[in-house]
Amino acid sequence: MKSFEELGLSEGTLSVLKKKGFEEPSPIQRKTIPAILDGEKDIVAQAQTGTGKTAAFGLPMLELMPEKSKNVQALILAPTRELAIQVAEEIHSLKGKRKLSIVPIYGGQSIEIQLRSLRKGIDIVVGTPGRVIDHLKRKTLKIDNLSYLVLDEADEMLNMGFLDDVREIMEYTPEEKRTMLFSATMPAAIIQLAKKYMREYDVIKITKDQLTVSQTDQIYFEVSAADRFEALCRIIDIEESFYGLVFCRTKLDVDKVSNHLMERGYDADGLHGDMSQSQREKILGKFKKRLLNILVATDVAARGIDVQDLTHVINYALPQDPESYVHRIGRTGRAGKEGIAITFISSKEYRGLQLIQKKTKTDIRKAKLPNVKDVIKTKKRRIKTVLQDIVASTPRSEYFIMSEELLESNNPEEILAALLQYSFQDELNETSYTEIEERVVDSKGKTRLFVAKGKKDNLTRKKLEEFIVSKCNISAGKIRDLEIMDSFSFVTLPFNEAEMLLSLFKKGKKGVGPLITRAKKKASKKR
Ligand code: AMP
Repeated sequence: MKSFEELGLSEGTLSVLKKKGFEEPSPIQRKTIPAILDGEKDIVAQAQTGTGKTAAFGLPMLELMPEKSKNVQALILAPTRELAIQVAEEIHSLKGKRKLSIVPIYGGQSIEIQLRSLRKGIDIVVGTPGRVIDHLKRKTLKIDNLSYLVLDEADEMLNMGFLDDVREIMEYTPEEKRTMLFSATMPAAIIQLAKKYMREYDVIKITKDQLTVSQTDQIYFEVSAADRFEALCRIIDIEESFYGLVFCRTKLDVDKVSNHLMERGYDADGLHGDMSQSQREKILGKFKKRLLNILVATDVAARGIDVQDLTHVINYALPQDPESYVHRIGRTGRAGKEGIAITFISSKEYRGLQLIQKKTKTDIRKAKLPNVKDVIKTKKRRIKTVLQDIVASTPRSEYFIMSEELLESNNPEEILAALLQYSFQDELNETSYTEIEERVVDSKGKTRLFVAKGKKDNLTRKKLEEFIVSKCNISAGKIRDLEIMDSFSFVTLPFNEAEMLLSLFKKGKKGVGPLITRAKKKASKKR
């Protein structure tokens, strides 16, 4: 399999990738990077978020772009402001020392701020369709000398009702440019768009049609990046005897997660491609002998690890394609023993998870994270078992004499409690676990919101709809299940737009709570 070096990237880019901790190209990168660098054609690629698609088009585009251009060189259209920001940040992190500027423009942010940055001269604009059209109409954005047009998550733009806007934007672009379309699915409307508006194109597809998965219990948790480590600790702590692999995407993540685990006192270590063969063997040896019960690794480093009987495989981040999911989780449940595969996802990764389920024809069920009280109960049980084993194997040493002396002046409960406190310190303290926010998101990535106004405030369905459209730059078709009650209302929105509204109304007015909050689970009927 080809490495980054073999894909034709420059030294500068290779050193950026090293710093970012990318060990090897993802499947979509392997195919897309040379196609853009060496080919001439447009590109239609089937890939969803989490596959490394941003770097797949971002890296070769950066390589080919001249510095000091007077015009916008690339326009990337994305369906939501979150994605626009994420893509702009990722490309920014990949540009290295190149003098190229990248700016995200999206609805919801002050147009003045965007105007200011656009006036400075920008090489790469990442924008949501609605706001890009606004700027094109005001002539504050000119794309008639564009070299690259990227349509990111094209099917999502279609679902959100942006396709007309996308077509309109394409009318502003020059004939001579390369268009790259990325989409998780390829509905007819997207294929028609490609046929009508694109030149001759290469089709890039990475997933095989069907894969088989070993008999493993598969569950997933939806946790934000900030809560992931805490969630991992709870999962390890609730097990009587955890013996598992934790998969991360990058070397940096492997270092971060394994160091954190060690700092918290776990028998853990990390494995990645930068280590020498002898270091790797040493760590692997310890893991095999169970001197370590947690091994954090990248896919590359874990290749060829032949360890049996893992109780858990944890995907700390969603794998980049269904094949590697199958490969990773195939390491549990061997030798007739039950294993558990756990996947952490962010709300943006639902579609990636759904694709894995479809390709592997298995069910990955959503589960609730263990609560702190249950974790502590398990810990108490474990401490008792460990102590009983020690009692059984402790010889009659000087500690016996000491214990007799101690018992003369203290009662047994007090002295035992003191010893436990000394040995386990705040192990059983609930406050050593931080809270994890549970999100009310359904399986399609939507959030139900509670609005603290209703009929008696003259709120109507139309007014609420218009209000949300104006705040979130969203098409009315994506606003679902509006219910206007006397003094409050409910509405369901796609996750990203819901988050945006929630952040706008976080504080509320003096003496009054926020106008919009997450609906409590019971309050919504469709879930
Ligand atoms: P994307 O699919 O572009 O949203 O990327 C998902 C995540 O994977 C981002 O955090 C990237 O930084 C990361 N990523 C992209 N390519 C690689 C790679 N070759 N190795 C490891 N991580 C990667």
